[in-house]
Amino acid sequence: MILTEDVENLKRVGPKTAEVLKKHGIRTVRDFLYNLPRDYENYAAPTSIAEIRPGKVVIKGKIDSLTSRRARRRNLSVTEGIVRDETGAVKVVWFNQSYRLKQFAPEKDYYFAGDYEFKNGRYSLISPSSAEISDIDPNGGLSPIYVAHGALKSNDFRRLMRASKPIFNDIPDMLPSVKPETRKRALFYAHFPNSEKSIKNARDYLAYEELFELILAAKLNRQENEKLKAVSIPFDAEKIRDFLKLLPFQLTGAQKKAAWEIFQDMEKPTPMNRLLQGDVGSGKTMVAALAAYEAILAGQQVAILAPTAILATQHFASLSQLLSPLGIEVALLTGATKKKPELKTEIKSGKINLVIGTHALLTDDTEFKDLALVIIDEQHRFGVEQRQKLALKSPKGLAPHLLTMTATPIPRSLQLTVFGDLDVSILNEMPKGRQSIVTSILTEVEMREKLYQKMRLVMNLKPDEKAQNQNAHGQQIYWICKAIEDGNGNPGSEITSVKSRARRLAEVFPDKKIEFLHGKMKPAEKDAVMERFANGEIDILVSTTVVEVGVDVPNATLMVIENAESYGLAQLHQLRGRVGRGSSTAYCYLLTSGDLAPTRRLKELEKSSDGFYLAEVDLKMRGPGEIYGALQHGALDLRIASLSDTKLIAKAQQDVKIFLQNPENMLKYKELMAGISKYQQITTLN
Ligand code: ADP
Ligand code: MG
Repeated sequence: MILTEDVENLKRVGPKTAEVLKKHGIRTVRDFLYNLPRDYENYAAPTSIAEIRPGKVVIKGKIDSLTSRRARRRNLSVTEGIVRDETGAVKVVWFNQSYRLKQFAPEKDYYFAGDYEFKNGRYSLISPSSAEISDIDPNGGLSPIYVAHGALKSNDFRRLMRASKPIFNDIPDMLPSVKPETRKRALFYAHFPNSEKSIKNARDYLAYEELFELILAAKLNRQENEKLKAVSIPFDAEKIRDFLKLLPFQLTGAQKKAAWEIFQDMEKPTPMNRLLQGDVGSGKTMVAALAAYEAILAGQQVAILAPTAILATQHFASLSQLLSPLGIEVALLTGATKKKPELKTEIKSGKINLVIGTHALLTDDTEFKDLALVIIDEQHRFGVEQRQKLALKSPKGLAPHLLTMTATPIPRSLQLTVFGDLDVSILNEMPKGRQSIVTSILTEVEMREKLYQKMRLVMNLKPDEKAQNQNAHGQQIYWICKAIEDGNGNPGSEITSVKSRARRLAEVFPDKKIEFLHGKMKPAEKDAVMERFANGEIDILVSTTVVEVGVDVPNATLMVIENAESYGLAQLHQLRGRVGRGSSTAYCYLLTSGDLAPTRRLKELEKSSDGFYLAEVDLKMRGPGEIYGALQHGALDLRIASLSDTKLIAKAQQDVKIFLQNPENMLKYKELMAGISKYQQITTLN
């Protein structure tokens, strides 16, 4: 059996099972083998029921009296049963796992492992994992736990895996320079461990394999990029100096360094591929303006892409303020733009020097005369393929220089691997006079007493010095909600929607102007609301995370993030960066639902304002897929959380280097080369 075969050819996998597997991305035998356990349960040394104590326990026994019911208050199913051994009996409870009703044969013995807790007036074993005694390797007592995919639960994956045991013999090696059959053994022990040590070895190897693929993909992207041609843009020291003299402030050291790195890249006849990272407010837009100016001085056109119309509009405002006085033609192109055909003609003729817009700018029929620099703000990356397409738009077949900007700090380990094809500049220094943001966690109960008082206080403060708007009576507030409408959050959770929160706040603050904003509104409506907020005509803006990136209203000095526990750290940090842009003290309140104890994540946010530190924490706690969730669809959900292992990264880098020294390897290692195309695509826009 070969790895590329359809999963349907596996033993015990019929059409129905195959359909579920495929729906969850498991299409081939290879995918199936690499669907690694999420964790392992250790059933060694069960305790007799008479002796169990509260906490984590393992017991062994028969189960009976299984029943299932709906809980009244929350939308949950509750499945209960009694487990007995020779010494006693204990109640077990599962939530939303009604398949447990049919899982057990009454005459057989099973292991159960879970938390023995006091709940609803009695002790019970809560949501234990379970396994049939005969399925567990008697040596280690270890049993893999797989992520459930639809109707296929962990037990089903274990059963299918056992039926496929013979195919492990046929797994060929994929990478060079390791002992033969390492891969075969690693995959086998990942699914059939016989000791903790065997799991560790297996995971170490598979992590290495994954890193090797990632790094190789990035290196190959880089090589491809170097084959492209770009316009060389000369550095004009004098003009840049004159431009800087016009600014009301001095560049930070970090901004100078980043600008210098960009100027040097743009002088080369191969396209720049640089990532500019800096926390919110670190002044990335200013650096982008310098790069754009330089390219325009050389007679070229520049495009800036923003993820939302709101952001494009703000960039347009700040960049035209900077560049129009220098005789530069700046244009905005979004869905709401009137007279599009005329504008497009002007872009094509070269009359427009700088155009700012959303993605449509590059994917639809917009044509340029001389597009030499593309700047992408937040979240989107460009792959070699997109550039080749852009190069085709240019009559001379030249690819544009590319500058990507992000406020999501990218941990070093990701830089070396996933983002290894990019050069990086970092703004690790804030402009002078930036306010720190006082962050506190509040429960819903505290909200009424403390928070409302504080909000009133802030709205009665006089407007911030830096507020450009004359309409504001006091300082302004963002209130962030998770959902747009009621009832579309998770069943059982208490998510307050933008709309109902806005209504409730209107009752609390009848004298204040409250409006809401969310992603399902028409672009023109959104822009209008944002504009009113920026103008100081709205006191409290209740919004979803659409205000997340880039939006700049210095007079907004307080932010409330409701259901804070449901966001990732990186995202919370970005949201929080919407305030603290003026000269007044800024506040961020993290509201947790019900009486949940604050999570470690929220506590970290309360303590630290360093985006890089927070990103490292997030990476360790949640894995890269969560942080860069918006970037790709599951492609970065690495099977093994290996990106914090710097030693392993270094080893993989070294081995990739050796691998690339021999071009024949690319023909020889076919599976490897086919596999990395998925990582190469991470870098492309979709
Ligand atoms: P970012 O895009 O990195 O979040 P911005 O470029 O929007 O940050 O800059 C935030 C604010 O700081 C803007 O109002 C900008 O004019 C201002 N700014 C940028 N660079 C400096 C500097 N060197 N000194 C003072 N203010 C600056
Ligand atoms: Mg910005």
